[in-house]
Amino acid sequence: MSNIVAIVGRPNVGKSTLFNRLLERREAIVDSTAGVTRDRHYGKSDWNGVEFTVIDTGGYEVNTEDVFQEEISKQVQLAIDEATSIIFMLNVEEGLTDTDQEIFEMLRRSNKPTYIVVNKVDSAKEELAATEFYQLGIDKYYTLSSATGSGTGELLDDIVKDFPTTEYKDPFEGLPKITIAGRPNVGKSTLTNALLDAERNIVTDIAGTTRDSIQTLYNKFGHEFVLVDTAGMRRKAKVKEDLEFYSVMRSVRSIEYSDVVIIMVDATLGWESQDMNIFGLAQKNRKGIVILVNKWDLVEKETNTMRDFENAIKAKIGQFTDIPILFISALTKQRILKAVDVAMEVYQNRAKKIKTSKLNEVMLPVFEQTPPPAIKGKYVKIKYCVQLPTPSPQFVFFCNLPQYVKEPYKRFTENQLRKQFGFTGVPIEVYFRQK
Ligand code: GDP
Ligand code: GDP
Repeated sequence: MSNIVAIVGRPNVGKSTLFNRLLERREAIVDSTAGVTRDRHYGKSDWNGVEFTVIDTGGYEVNTEDVFQEEISKQVQLAIDEATSIIFMLNVEEGLTDTDQEIFEMLRRSNKPTYIVVNKVDSAKEELAATEFYQLGIDKYYTLSSATGSGTGELLDDIVKDFPTTEYKDPFEGLPKITIAGRPNVGKSTLTNALLDAERNIVTDIAGTTRDSIQTLYNKFGHEFVLVDTAGMRRKAKVKEDLEFYSVMRSVRSIEYSDVVIIMVDATLGWESQDMNIFGLAQKNRKGIVILVNKWDLVEKETNTMRDFENAIKAKIGQFTDIPILFISALTKQRILKAVDVAMEVYQNRAKKIKTSKLNEVMLPVFEQTPPPAIKGKYVKIKYCVQLPTPSPQFVFFCNLPQYVKEPYKRFTENQLRKQFGFTGVPIEVYFRQK
């Protein structure tokens, strides 16, 4: 389970700059997810080997002063609800404002671990100016220059050091965890209720958070699995503008905790940007994915309606299209058991471990047959491959000249792995390394 660090503060204090800085560092090293629309509010980072999730709450463009106050307090509340730790960012150029005071008041009342960070401290001159923030009645603040990165080390040292250390005891260790995600009103509750009749509801506290999550154990349909639902997931959005940003943020934790994410789409609305965001979250976290097109009962059907709908989704989700797409009605219960079967298949695919001998026996002839294209007269020779012991499938291919293996060949390799071994619904990582 990942700890979540949220960055809050007024617009223009430098939240996105810090956010991007934290992410870039890591993405340059490990995140090879290509072809996905990046969700600019959410990402993974790590410090001294400790991984965490970063949320930039400044996801909203705000125009008028009124909306502004309301939006900011919503963002801060979201951070308080969802995060393990909060970075409260202030801007030394503008000094302390009333809004800063209000945000600080909310954070103080919440008792969340909060790090007060004075940004845009680019030189000694601003160091001195930053002392103005002692007016908040605090003992300590951090000074930062998000633009250059100076000061981030000290801040991250402390944040990471303060992460809760208590080991989370999973009451359902070893069982498949599934989350039903999707926009408000797509039918998540209806599906959950259709699957559920007097099952065991267990409320647990997912590590590093204070809000409850509900886990429901299912032992039927010939499968045993756990439905994960953090408290916010099914909460109704009160305001329309919540749709785009907040409900995605609320699903972050459930998705991270699950093995398989069921993304529900409303057949009457089609695949929209928010579905893409949820998809991106699941993919980035290397979770199994099943897409359920719900409310199929409402759709006027012709011969190719299903196929066209499926193609339209696949055209939008990028390169990773080896994903089951089912057409269901949670209301009439049409194909919902099929959906459970498929989710469990995806779970199995994700857990699949290919023996090294088998992997080499199958893949080396493939490479022999279709080697990477030679570059500047140099030939890449792939000698050996292994699957890493990671929760989701990751493969390392050892070769003489890994730098010459380009994106198209990596994709070819991934497709071959899918074709030969069956990883439908599961993001795969393929690495080429020197040997
Ligand atoms: P956000 O609205 O809080 O996300 O703020 P942004 O990250 O978009 O930053 C607002 C502006 O402040 C941009 O023009 C940044 O380049 C600038 N900025 C951010 N961090 C620093 C910093 O440490 N020093 C200086 N001088 N400018 C910064
Ligand atoms: P949630 O916000 O994602 O949990 O969505 P709900 O489960 O509350 O469903 C929102 C609305 O859509 C309710 O009025 C449901 O009755 C309706 N609904 C859900 N699934 C279906 C379906 O398969 N077909 C039809 N026609 N309506 C549905």
